[in-house]
Amino acid sequence: MARDNFSQSIKDVLAKRVAHKCSNPSCGNITTGPHADSSRSINLGVACHITAASTGGPRFDSMISTAERVSVENGIWLCQSCAKLIDNDESRYPVALLRQWKVEAEAGALRAMSGSSLNDYFPQPPAAKHAPIPKIAGLSYETARLSLIDAGWQPIGYSMAHGSDPDLQVGNGLYFWQKGYYEIIDCCPTGLSHCRFGYRDAYGNKLIIITSGEVLPQVGSTARVSRWSFENDI
Ligand SMILES: [Zn+2]
Repeated sequence: MARDNFSQSIKDVLAKRVAHKCSNPSCGNITTGPHADSSRSINLGVACHITAASTGGPRFDSMISTAERVSVENGIWLCQSCAKLIDNDESRYPVALLRQWKVEAEAGALRAMSGSSLNDYFPQPPAAKHAPIPKIAGLSYETARLSLIDAGWQPIGYSMAHGSDPDLQVGNGLYFWQKGYYEIIDCCPTGLSHCRFGYRDAYGNKLIIITSGEVLPQVGSTARVSRWSFENDI
């Protein structure tokens, strides 16, 4: 029986599109690493067919062509054990689920690669609904703050006592607190000068905005949004 196998270039693309990580969201293992021989690497990943490579295989779809069967669209990158798992229990791992894994794994890789892709799909907010997240990656905090407020995110106003926190007595912390940005949670005066800011929406979700960079107007440096996340505790 003919098997419609993936070419090496398709396998490479599938692996790279998910940063060589297993696409099963409950696994996510890295599938490549160093070999004991310093000139070689080890690959534990498999380019799996979403619909089988041959008749009678898991999730085989007779309606698609050979070209479609060996295309990137029909592949998903998994570690060896997850590859075995999906093929041994195909009713539990149907085509639709594998496609969802693939979309999520690629979105996760994009987010990890670019710092933040700012699609509003990851991570899941605690509530089913949330106010939209505007495209704020890389914006100065001042600009991002206006966009967030426009989109329905309210800065959380921390108490005046919070202003005596040592973090807020120096650098970015002091700068933002004095500006009246009482949503500031904390600031790290060293390294990338990360600051965290808290917002809430009408659904009760809490959003944390993280900036990198020190505000130094004299050298044109400012704190820019590097990532964001939902937080469960309010
Ligand atoms: Zn896996």
